[in-house]
Amino acid sequence: MTVRHAAEIISSARRGLALTGAGASAESGIPTFRGEGGLWKQYEPVKVASIEYFMADPSAYWKVSKDRGRVALAARPNAGHHALAALEASGHLAAVVTQNTDGLHQESGSRNVIEIHGSSRTVQCLDCGTREPRADVQARLHEELPPHCKVCGGAFLKPTVVLFGEPMPQAAVTKAFALAREADVVLVVGSSLVVYPAADIPLVALRSGARMIVVNAEPTPFDELAEVVIHGRSGEVLPEIVELIGE
Ligand code: NAD
Ligand code: ZN
Repeated sequence: MTVRHAAEIISSARRGLALTGAGASAESGIPTFRGEGGLWKQYEPVKVASIEYFMADPSAYWKVSKDRGRVALAARPNAGHHALAALEASGHLAAVVTQNTDGLHQESGSRNVIEIHGSSRTVQCLDCGTREPRADVQARLHEELPPHCKVCGGAFLKPTVVLFGEPMPQAAVTKAFALAREADVVLVVGSSLVVYPAADIPLVALRSGARMIVVNAEPTPFDELAEVVIHGRSGEVLPEIVELIGE
């Protein structure tokens, strides 16, 4: 019955906001960091995904990023991404704020997507600023690590994602919080809600009067604050909600 309750709440939304985390892309085959099967069981995240580590040894960074990039480039949106795009198209969701960097929301048809942790689809040279699609850099990773800039030959090519120790993209964060203050419903999908300031977004929405729904494989620290909590897979739960709304 909780899915029906969630559908009722979302069907009444006019300025709904979705916040998505790595769990939303898990069914597309991109491993999460935290949680069941998460990468952090293999690597020490704050080290491998930090700007200090990258600057100290970009080839060590790329060694890990190489496999992850191959998986992410091959990934396609799952049914959960498509359901969120449908909820935007039917006027219930105003935007998707995502912690993900994979670009799958845009690929599934969501129009208003705010990437607060950047995008892994582009790589930038820290020496001369040249940007290249990740796919092009990926294609030459088998030649040499680290990859070098095609323009200046620099050895510091960094995906345009926010690494630990880097500032968040200010414009995206400002927009995300503005949307949170305006939201009538906040739908949290596949986020452990332990990474800040992302986890503040639903709190700001709540304080501004939004109703909150959590869809996550595992319990989150905010479950008690939500009107509806569904512990399940987003690729299964979200399409059910869309079907119940029936538009
Ligand atoms: P997170 O904090 O968002 O945690 C992921 C959550 O998703 C966990 O609580 C897990 O229980 C849940 N989950 C797993 N499978 C699910 C499913 N099928 N349906 C619903 N929920 C599911 O994210 P994280 O993994 O700790 O990553 C931290 C940061 O690293 C992210 O904020 C992001 O910036 C980056 N990251 C991005 C991607 C991506 O772009 N796809 C993937 C991993 C990590
Ligand atoms: Zn360069």
